[in-house]
Parts: sequence; structure tokens; C-alpha cells
Amino acid sequence: MKIMISSCLLGINTRYNGKVKPINPLLKKFLNNIIIPFCPEQFGCLKTPRIKATLSSNSKSIIDGSGCVFDDSGKDISFNFIKGATTSLELIKSVKPNLIILKEDSPSCGLCFTNINWQKKRGMGITAYLIKNNTNIKCISF
Ligand code: SF4
Repeated sequence: MKIMISSCLLGINTRYNGKVKPINPLLKKFLNNIIIPFCPEQFGCLKTPRIKATLSSNSKSIIDGSGCVFDDSGKDISFNFIKGATTSLELIKSVKPNLIILKEDSPSCGLCFTNINWQKKRGMGITAYLIKNNTNIKCISF
């Protein structure tokens, strides 16, 4: 089975603050599969560490151009987040994984919760939104 996983869940140093979290213990049972890590924000040419970012409103509004992603300095970085999400989707369509495991609470990867105006809110990050609206691949999150 092929599984694509948000890279930071695997302990890879891609988080905005440059702090590595240990591999999520809930992932261990999946690791005897073919694992393909991916990080949408790095695909969007954002460095690690980087300034933290939030969504102005839900992901649909950012894709359709009425909302934006802004960082803690107030800079609009919607382009980077959309580029990262679309590049992730291209990779997913190419790899055709059986399962995608996403990092909860992220403005990119959050599946049930994301970050809007610096608050944890129910909803999808931009990459999760594109995946759910353009593929039928099963997604779970931690
Ligand atoms: S949550 Fe997603 S975008 Fe953020 S560091 Fe992890 S893989 Fe990258």
C-alpha cells in the first residue's frame, strides 16, 4: 500500500518554527507500507523556519480569491500556499496513494480543523480542501 503523509508527522524538519516533533506514535502501524512524505508549504517555496501564517477565512474563499493567507508580519502569502496545495495535488495524482495522512490544525494540511485568524477553527486547510474536492482518496488525520 502507498501512503502519503504530511512530512512533519514523520519527524521531518518542515514545521514553520523549525522545531522537530518526534514521529507520531499513532503512525507506527502504517510504517511497513510505502511511505511518501510531502510538505505543501515547502512545495510553495516557504522556508523552514518561516513566519507563522493563518487563513483570513475558509479555504474555499482563498482558492476563489476572496480570502487570503497572511503571515505574522501581515504579508499576503496566498500565492505560496496555493502553489504548495496545487503542487501537492499534482504529486498525489501522479503517485495515486491508497491513503493520505494529514497533520491536523494546519492552514495547509488540517483535515477537520485549521487555523483562521490565528484561532483553531473547524474546517480544512487549503491542501486538504483541494485533495478532498479533486480526489476520492481516503484521508485521515492526526
Ligand atoms: S502541517 Fe503540512 S505544511 Fe505544515 S509542516 Fe507539516 S506537512 Fe508541512
